[in-house]
This record gives sequence, C-alpha cells and structure tokens, in this order.
Amino acid sequence: ATPTAVMVGTGVGASQGVLIKGGQALESAQKVNYIVFDKTGTLTVGKPVVVNTRLFKNVALRKFYELVAATEVNSEHPLGKAIVEYAKRLREDEEDPVWPEARDFESIIGNGVKANVRNKEIIVGNKSLMLDHNISIPIDAEEMLMEIEEMAQTGILVSIDGEVSGVLAISDPLKPGAREVISILKSMKVKSIMVTGDNWGTAKSIAREVGIDSVIAEAKPDQKVEKVKHLQASGYTVAMVGDGINDSPALVAADVGMAIGAGTDIAIEAADIVLMKSNLEDVIIAIDLSKKTFSRIR
Ligand code: ADP
Ligand code: MG
Repeated sequence: ATPTAVMVGTGVGASQGVLIKGGQALESAQKVNYIVFDKTGTLTVGKPVVVNTRLFKNVALRKFYELVAATEVNSEHPLGKAIVEYAKRLREDEEDPVWPEARDFESIIGNGVKANVRNKEIIVGNKSLMLDHNISIPIDAEEMLMEIEEMAQTGILVSIDGEVSGVLAISDPLKPGAREVISILKSMKVKSIMVTGDNWGTAKSIAREVGIDSVIAEAKPDQKVEKVKHLQASGYTVAMVGDGINDSPALVAADVGMAIGAGTDIAIEAADIVLMKSNLEDVIIAIDLSKKTFSRIR
C-alpha cells in the first residue's frame, strides 16, 4: 500500500472509532488468524452486579455486608466495586454510609482481599484464597458455587474469623453482539480463545454462551503472554483483545494488540489499536480495513 493509502485507512478507522497507531498495525491486522480474548470487560460488559447472597451463619444481611464492604472499599477490582455498590443499596436509608475501619488490608492479586474489621478477620475471594488460609469450605457452599458457575456468574466466598459465612453471586453479562462477532470470525477462518483469571466453572459457562471452544481459566498475567507466544511459535499471527492492567504484557507480545477503549490507561498505551467504542464488532472492522487497504496493491 502507498503511504497515502495507509493514511486514508488510518483516517477511515479513526472516523469509526478504531484508533490505529501506525502503518505497521494496520498492515498486520489483515494477517491475524488467531485471537486471544480476555473475559471480564472484553467479552463481558465489565460492570459486575451482585445478584444473590446466601448466608451460612446466623448473621443479619446488613451486618454481613457492612463487614464485607469495609474490606472491599479498599479494592480497585471491579468485583470489589460491585460488592460495595450492593452494600450501599442495602443502606439507602443512610445518606452516605460510612464503613467501619479496616485494619491490615491486603489485596491478593487474582484471588481476593482481606482485612481486620471490628476485630474480626474478614476474607473475601475465591476458593483458592480460602484454602490458602486453611479455611474449609462447607458442602452447601460448594454446591452453591457450582450452581452459580453453571449460570455463568462468579461466586465469591466470605469468611469471618476462619469460617465461611456467605457466598455472593456476581453477574457480568456478555456484551450484546459478542456471540455474533465470534461466529463471524469463525467464518473468516480466524480462531478464538478466551483467557481469564476467573475460575474454570464460570469461564466455561461464559465461553459456551459466546461460542468459544477453547478456554484457559485461573490464568495469571504471564500465562496470557505465554499463550500468545505459544500460538506465534505455532505459526499463527496473533491478536490479543483486552482491557486490564493484567492484559498489557500480552497486548505488547501479540502481533496486534487491541485495547477496549473503556479499559485501563495502561492497556490502551500497550495496544496497537484502540477500540474507542468498546464494541467487539470493531475487531472485525479493523481486520476488514486492513484487508481493504493492503489489497489495493495486489
Ligand atoms: P478477571 O480476569 O476475571 O478480572 P482476576 O485475575 O482479576 O480475574 O481475579 C480472579 C479472581 O480472583 C476473581 O474471579 C475473584 O474470584 C477473585 N478476586 C479478585 N479480586 C477480588 C476482590 N476484590 N474481591 C473478591 N474476589 C476477588
Ligand atoms: Mg478484563
């Protein structure tokens, strides 16, 4: 393609909210035949909401959520924000609820949070976080987790002083059109895989809903990079689509990194292409634009 064609292609992209950072990115996009998708905030809306709570101990819902919110209010994680939002709604009678002080707050990346609130040790997170603290998970809680994951929701355990006291179900639905995008990519002979930090049960249910056959769950950020590199070594031209700080190394490693516009600044900086409207359809727009620009000289 001539420099003018590249300029035109980049301009057309920009006018549609697909920000292409340079000619190399525009050229590589047409060759993409494997796409690694992050889950939360990429395939899903990314605004999780608490939809159900089950308590196992004799504790009032309001009191329970006061302890949990006091812990999670220190978290930057979307799940933490969802929990605090819910706790606030339980206290709509108060103008701006003040949570009790949390001491020794700790965020365990990819697992959850813990703190000391009202002299109680509060731990909020996934199963492995409980097991790491030698907290046993009652059968009722295990069963509830399975039901939650089957519905493509995320189950969060709450332990108070070493005992699982409640399970929260958090829902983060698929973006509208996500399923269609995956199916169109399939027809374009582009393979898709989902890589997420969330648990296997939820990840598989979401993958089934969106129509992705290949899943890696409970993945740490370097596993996202490893997957990208592994696919490249197998001869694929790989795009990564993500929104989180966790995704940034994989966005850099990919042949084409695509960041969701509503994502974190770090992901947007790491990417070659930014999907300003945060729509998944724009993944296809970017590939099409690249094909149109670079087929002119063939
Ligand atoms: P994702 O890619 O889904 O955003 P993360 O790696 O950020 O996944 O987190 C993985 C898992 O760790 C979550 O699904 C959740 O179970 C647990 N987790 C992380 N942060 C929190 C938090 N602030 N509160 C409760 N659980 C959390
Ligand atoms: Mg994400």
